[in-house]
Amino acid sequence: MDARIYLDYAATTPLRPEVRAAMEPYLSADGFGNPSSLHADGQRAKRALDAARDTLAEALGCQFSEISFTSGGTESDNAALAGVMLANRKRGNHLITTAIEHEAVTETARFLETFGFRVTILPVDEFGTVSPQSVAAAITDETVLVSVMHANNEVGTIQPLREIAGVVHARGAYLHTDAVQTFGQLPVTIDVTGVDLLTLSAHKIYGPKGVGALYVRSGIAIEPLLHGGGQERQRRSGTENVSAIAGFGEAVRLLLPERAAEAERLTHLRDCFWTQLMRRLPGVILNGHPTNRLPNNLNISLPGLDAETLLLSLDRAGVSASSGSACTSGSIEPSHVLSAMGLPDARLKSALRLTLGRGTTAEEIDRTVEMLVGIVKRLGCVKN
Ligand code: PLP
Repeated sequence: MDARIYLDYAATTPLRPEVRAAMEPYLSADGFGNPSSLHADGQRAKRALDAARDTLAEALGCQFSEISFTSGGTESDNAALAGVMLANRKRGNHLITTAIEHEAVTETARFLETFGFRVTILPVDEFGTVSPQSVAAAITDETVLVSVMHANNEVGTIQPLREIAGVVHARGAYLHTDAVQTFGQLPVTIDVTGVDLLTLSAHKIYGPKGVGALYVRSGIAIEPLLHGGGQERQRRSGTENVSAIAGFGEAVRLLLPERAAEAERLTHLRDCFWTQLMRRLPGVILNGHPTNRLPNNLNISLPGLDAETLLLSLDRAGVSASSGSACTSGSIEPSHVLSAMGLPDARLKSALRLTLGRGTTAEEIDRTVEMLVGIVKRLGCVKN
């Protein structure tokens, strides 16, 4: 039997063996120290944190002290939004975000609303792009923070962050971006993006789950969400997850020299995938921006068919894919991203997200095309 094909790298990635090896010492008898302890055991753990922080700071082109480690992308997004809004009440009470953010941002914005903060949710166009003009129209003297994700996790559309940063900074507000999906594939730096706060997560770049980072530009006041021993320069109390942070650092170290070439390889594979699907499945539609999208992302609709049935059939055939949107109690909710893009019902209901990664080969893509064509033949044709 053929091995399974994993096409859900946007959901998570497998741990690289080198990353596991880098984590190992801090899970063993001689590397278990608490990084806040002054003795040699503690200081060994502290050096692991410092090394990982150094690697991340170098990758982003920022200062060592501007990086805090967190429990993942979700916590970093929460900390960015709530932390900045709470600490900057004197500057204003208005937060701007977009209709296509990850729930870690949208739900935090909703939570902040219940405390009296005013939230504006910006629309997107049919490709899932946020326009800098819409940011300019929404921003007021009361706006403290604007949060726009770097690229969307469902459709892969990349946002014009630099232009948005120009608009935001001209009005004296801060810009946060969730770069969880882009850091592994694009040359993400503070200079390139122009942002003031930036969210990362290790498990999307072949690192461990449950660890992430938040970049906060030096000088920006941010209220901690977790109170206690004052770790991470008072920004995030709690003994650091040393082995996971060491693994995160190693995943970043391995990523940087390979990122550009791997992005090119994936773009080529993804484009071949799409070309074959277009040829073999009349009626298939691409969701998201045709060119300005993540190298590894293909999001398609097969109008007339049902995403859940397609996914289950693919799973039975040995392919792990996703609808991109949340599964609640076994059924797929319509995607808030595709809805915000104004797509018709038949496209919402039949959307599949296929995301490629380090393990993906041309042979896997060819096999997936064959399987998908077979499944569609069995289920009935795609409606044009
Ligand atoms: N932001 C984006 C864009 C994501 O895709 C994800 C994960 O799917 C997250 C945030 C959450 O990250 P984590 O799983 O590390 O909490």
